Amino acid sequence: MPAPETAAVAVKECAVCGSRLARKRWTVRDTLLDAPGEFTIVTCGNCGTLRLSPRPPFAERRQAFADGYPLYDWALGRKQAPAAERVDRFRAQIAAIGRMQAPGRLLDVGCGDGYFMLGMQQRGWQVRGIELHPEVAAFARDQLGLDVVAGAEHEVPWGGPYDCITLFGVLEDVDDPNACLARCRQSLAPGGLLVVQTHNIDSWEARLFGPHWFNVEAPRHVWHFGPRTLGRLLENNRFHQQELLHYGAAYVTEQSIANRRGGPFPASFLDRLVRKVVVVPAAALAPRLRQGIMIEAYCRHGD
Ligand SMILES: [Zn+2]
Repeated sequence: MPAPETAAVAVKECAVCGSRLARKRWTVRDTLLDAPGEFTIVTCGNCGTLRLSPRPPFAERRQAFADGYPLYDWALGRKQAPAAERVDRFRAQIAAIGRMQAPGRLLDVGCGDGYFMLGMQQRGWQVRGIELHPEVAAFARDQLGLDVVAGAEHEVPWGGPYDCITLFGVLEDVDDPNACLARCRQSLAPGGLLVVQTHNIDSWEARLFGPHWFNVEAPRHVWHFGPRTLGRLLENNRFHQQELLHYGAAYVTEQSIANRRGGPFPASFLDRLVRKVVVVPAAALAPRLRQGIMIEAYCRHGD
C-alpha cells in the first residue's frame, strides 16, 4: 500500500480514458462547509471527464466531510423523521434492486445513517455497511441495529462475497475509481449486482450553473462523470450496464441558485414563486428527459 499523501498532488491521468491531456476549467471554493482554500477543476482533453487537480490529500478531504454535512442531519440529531419516511427516500433503488436480484447479502459502501440498508433488511437482505463518519456509523449501528464499520472504503476490510454492492455518492469521492471498482468486482459473488450512483456533470442543470452547481462540491468530489463517461469507466472494469436511472432534486437547484447569487434562495416572494413554478416542476421533468442531476447505473460483471 502506498504511503499516505501529506500534500496536494496533481492528478495527471484521467480515470476514465487514461489521457494526460487536461485544461483548467474552474477555480472554486467550498460554499457548503467552508473547507479552507481554493480548488481547481480540470477537464480531460480527451473524454471530457472533470477532476479536482491538484487533489488535497485524503486526510484533508476527510476533514471536509464535516459534522455540518446535510446528509448527516438525521444521524447527528439536527433533524427528526419517522424511519419509514427515511427509508421511503430509497424506494426507487429498493424497487430496482428487487426487480433485478433475489435477496441475499448486500454491502452498502458509504452507507450514511443506514436507512437504505434498513429498507433492504426489511425485504429479506442480510446487510452490511461502511461509513466514513464515525458518529454517523455509530448511529446506524446503535440506533438501527445494523452491521456498520466506520472508516474509508480503502481502509477497511469489505468481507463478502456479496450478491449486491451499492455505492451511492462514493465513486466521485475516491482517489482511484478504478481501484474501487476492482474491489467491487473482487467482493461480488458470481452474477452479483453493482449499483453506482453519482451526480451528472453532463446534465443541463450542471451546464447551466457551471462552477456554481451545488454538486461540484470541492474538495469532497474529486471526479465528475456523465452517463457516457460513467458507462465507459464501468466498461473498462468489465461491468456491463443493464439500466441507467435518472433522478432530479429541487434542493440541488435551489442551492445552485444560492451559490450563484452569493445569498440564500428562496429569499423573497418572487423566489418562492420561481421555486413553485420553475424549480420543482423542472426537477420532476428532468429525469424523464434523461437529464437527471443524479444517475444510477445497475451493472453486472463480465466474468
Ligand atoms: Zn478522459
